[in-house]
Amino acid sequence: MTDAPAGGKLPPLREVIARYGLNASKALGQNFLFDGQLLARIAAVPGDLDGAEVLEVGPGPGGLTRALLAAGANVTAIERDRRCIPALAELGEAYPGKLRVIEGDALAVDAPALFAGRPHIVSNLPYNVGTALLVGWLTAEWQPWWQSCTLMFQKEVAERIVASANDDAYGRLAVLSQWRSSARIAMPVHRSAFTPPPKVMSAVVHIVPGEAPEGVEVRVLERITAAAFGQRRKMLRQSLKGVPGALAGLEQIGIDPTRRAETVGVDEFVALARVVGGAG
Ligand code: SAM
Repeated sequence: MTDAPAGGKLPPLREVIARYGLNASKALGQNFLFDGQLLARIAAVPGDLDGAEVLEVGPGPGGLTRALLAAGANVTAIERDRRCIPALAELGEAYPGKLRVIEGDALAVDAPALFAGRPHIVSNLPYNVGTALLVGWLTAEWQPWWQSCTLMFQKEVAERIVASANDDAYGRLAVLSQWRSSARIAMPVHRSAFTPPPKVMSAVVHIVPGEAPEGVEVRVLERITAAAFGQRRKMLRQSLKGVPGALAGLEQIGIDPTRRAETVGVDEFVALARVVGGAG
């Protein structure tokens, strides 16, 4: 691990942290990244960012922000920890007009309103905040207001996002992430890359929105997957009992009602949501 800044003239991140008293707060899920090479690799995941708009949630002391700025991005960063704001302001001075910092809770900020075009989202967040934000972004109006998401998660959450039917990690998050987007693990990240190191390994997930299948409403798909995976060990004829039209829908599209949710592929859930939505 190196402590080299991603820019040129910037002080090392550890110095910034000491100067601004940014001791990692457990309550805010702070695990910082200092390795300039690793940060540059994460910033490269969305592709060429030269001149692109990027939303970064949770910049903290600004390690990933530096890498995004060095890649030529125009960065809008939302950070909840007020202690980080002066450090980020200093970073903004090194990249005039390229960094906009918003102090606030990303769960409450109207992020789409901040952009005229469609930004890339790049973020290393506490996993619970990241999952809540991701579900919001995935269930947004389509075509979404964002161009791609590059997000750090606990490895176990990353696996849930990219899982296929019959994988242990397969569930609602996989269906929501894949029914109209492609999702992949871009790189694993060892726990020792973070300061302080978390207990578990992490991975960067890359999600790119695609075409929405016709005739499928996200609220119907959400209702079906919530019911089906809420009782994932039960047969569909039991778990989907409370969803109007679902049992008739299974029959209509030829899905055996004795199957369990974990065996039902993303395309099959989409087909079911289409006939259930059409019936309602
Ligand atoms: N991006 C930095 C890095 O990679 O070193 C910091 C990552 S740290 C895991 C997560 C950051 O998200 C912290 O700076 C924390 O204060 C911030 N954060 C946590 N919850 C947040 C929220 N709801 N809205 C905005 N920022 C949040």
